[in-house]
Amino acid sequence: MRIIAAVAAACSLTAAATADEPRWALVIHGGAGVIERDSMTAEAEALYREALAIAVDAGADILRGGGSALDAVEAMTRLMEDDPLFNAGRGAVFTAAGRVEHDASIMDGATLNAGASAGTTNVRHPISLARAVMERSRHVMLQGPGAETFAAEQGLEVVHPAYFFTERRWRALERALEAQGLPIPPRPEGAPEPEGVDHTWLNTDTRFGTVGAVAVDMDGNIAAATTTGGMTAKRWGRVGDSPIIGAGTYASNASCGVSATGTGEYFIRLNIAARICALVELQGLSIQDAADRVIGEELTALSGDGGVVAMTPDGAIAWAMNTSGMYRARASSDAPPVVAIFADEG
Ligand code: ASP
Repeated sequence: MRIIAAVAAACSLTAAATADEPRWALVIHGGAGVIERDSMTAEAEALYREALAIAVDAGADILRGGGSALDAVEAMTRLMEDDPLFNAGRGAVFTAAGRVEHDASIMDGATLNAGASAGTTNVRHPISLARAVMERSRHVMLQGPGAETFAAEQGLEVVHPAYFFTERRWRALERALEAQGLPIPPRPEGAPEPEGVDHTWLNTDTRFGTVGAVAVDMDGNIAAATTTGGMTAKRWGRVGDSPIIGAGTYASNASCGVSATGTGEYFIRLNIAARICALVELQGLSIQDAADRVIGEELTALSGDGGVVAMTPDGAIAWAMNTSGMYRARASSDAPPVVAIFADEG
């Protein structure tokens, strides 16, 4: 059964303090999907909550110190890319060919500049590659080997693909390929031996795990970022919504910032991130109402699954999902951090 959950804007930077006090806000996610109390161990739940809290703290430190929203969303996303819990960077899922292919994008709401990369296999921090594409190339999106060449030329950290290997994602690939009657590729070169590894307590077959962040800084600028490994057993160079500006990521100081997670094909077809911002800007919807409408009604009507985190430049934060959970957290200059996993949490 699909659960529709949306949580009222928890903090608005216009609400509390005096008008001239500089304020900031941030919201992050670590993927949406079938995430249920009954099937999640206390150990796994604690790990996810801790990882989200660490990322939020890092972003809050940057914004509190006067750093930019762009720096904050990049830093928070990088931390989650380094954490094998998430389907981004180190914990990314495998393609049917047994590789990791990352997609990422970032957008600056002050300028509407944007950058993205798709299908990279050896860039440690795909979000930093997306930012480099935005700031140091004439393009918005680079993909595959070309993107990797650009990353190396820009001095970004390039790693051996075995760096991204996790046993639980490999097991998930084996199960997915078996279910589809497809051959299982050899374990990647450099992957550790499977003996003795117990990851059953953290079975993430049905969880997505994309990461994303939205922030507004003390100058009132908004930025959004998203990184993913995509879907387990993806084939043929499949690219999801995460690197597509307007689908998985959007930011505009005139409306809002959004980072999305879910079945990417539906997010592309609905142009979800930009659509939420258009409802705010052109129809005057609140950020929560816009997110609820697009996720709770439009995505659900197409049978797509997932969620978004979103924010307006005045710091009103929203999250919405039509799944049983989404790893997520928020914080602002007006309110202490909140970490949530299950759909019914605040
Ligand atoms: N949106 C991602 C994709 O389709 C996956 C996810 O967010 O779970 O590639």
